[in-house]
Amino acid sequence: MPADFKTIRYERPSEGVARIVLARPEMHNAQNPEMLYEINDAYYEAAMDDTVKVLVLAADGDNFSSGHDLAAPNWFECVPAGLWGGLEQPGAEGFFSLEHEVYLDMCWRWRNMPKPTIAAVQGKAIAGGLMLIWVCDLIVAAEDARFSDPVVAFGLNGHEYFVHPFEMGARKAKEMLFTAEAITAQEAEKLGMVNRVVPKADLEAEALALAERIARLPMMGLKMAKQSVNQALDAQGMWTTVQSAFSLHQLTHSHNMQVHGLPVEPSGIQFIKEQGRASR
Ligand code: ZN
Repeated sequence: MPADFKTIRYERPSEGVARIVLARPEMHNAQNPEMLYEINDAYYEAAMDDTVKVLVLAADGDNFSSGHDLAAPNWFECVPAGLWGGLEQPGAEGFFSLEHEVYLDMCWRWRNMPKPTIAAVQGKAIAGGLMLIWVCDLIVAAEDARFSDPVVAFGLNGHEYFVHPFEMGARKAKEMLFTAEAITAQEAEKLGMVNRVVPKADLEAEALALAERIARLPMMGLKMAKQSVNQALDAQGMWTTVQSAFSLHQLTHSHNMQVHGLPVEPSGIQFIKEQGRASR
C-alpha cells in the first residue's frame, strides 16, 4: 500500500479495481500541490501494480472539485515529477515551468496511463476539477453534476489542459468558455462528454460496477484499445492543440501580470461571485 496520503485516499474496492478518492471535502476538494502530487503517486501505484486493471477517480463531499487551490502555499516543497525545472525562476520562465510541471505534465501523464480510468463525478467540477475528469477514459456523472471552466472571466483562455473542443465539440466549447457558465450532467451526456448519468445515491456503485465489468477483460486488449483511441485523438491534433493553447495560456498570465500585477484579471473574482449568486 502506498504512503499515507493526506489529501486523497487510495483504495482497492474490488478485485482488479483501484480507486483514488479526493478527500478535502471541507475545501470542495480544491487541489493544492500536495493533492496533485498525491494523485500522481496514486497513478504510479495503480500503473505499476499488475493486480490493478482499472482505476476509478472519485471525490468525497457534495462537489467533485472546485479547481486549483489558489491560496495554497508551498509549491516547491513537492519533489518535481517532470524534468522542466526552473520552477522558482522569476517572471514568465518560472510561471511557465511551474504550470507545465504541476498541470500540463501531470494531466498528460495521467491521460496516457494505458490502463482504463473512470471518473465518478458529483456536484461541481470547476476548471482544474474538469481537468482531472477529462484525463479519464470514461465519465459517470451524478444527476447533480455541473461542469464549467469559467477562467475566461479571469482573463485566461481556458484551463491549462485545453481539450475543450475534443470533449464538447468546437461550438459548445466556445459557449462554455465565452459565457463562463456550467453545463449540466444531462447536457454533457447529450454532447457525448459523459458516458452515463445516474442518481447521486447510485454513483459509487455504478462507477464500481462499470470498473468491475471492464476488469474482467484482458489487460493487453484493454491497453491497446485505449492506446488506439488515444492515438486517433492525437492524429486529430489533440497534443498539438494542448501545447499551443498552453502557450497562449501563459501569454494571458503574462499579460495580466503586466497590466494588473497579478497572473489573473482581478475583476474575475467578482464576476464569479455574482454568477454563483445568480445560479443559486
Ligand atoms: Zn494557469
